[in-house]
Amino acid sequence: MSSAEEAELLYQCVRCGAIVKSSELELGIRCPYCRYRVLRKIRPPVVKRVQAR
Ligand SMILES: [Zn+2]
Repeated sequence: MSSAEEAELLYQCVRCGAIVKSSELELGIRCPYCRYRVLRKIRPPVVKRVQAR
């Protein structure tokens, strides 16, 4: 049993500050709101599951 790991990256537009998912970036990295091309990678909050036996 292997759980699907969500390796989705998040990008934040440095211009308008909008956070865009990597799955929403179809035609390269570009802000869908202001169409700015400079986005910075941000790390999504990783929730680690504690193994409970
Ligand atoms: Zn933007």
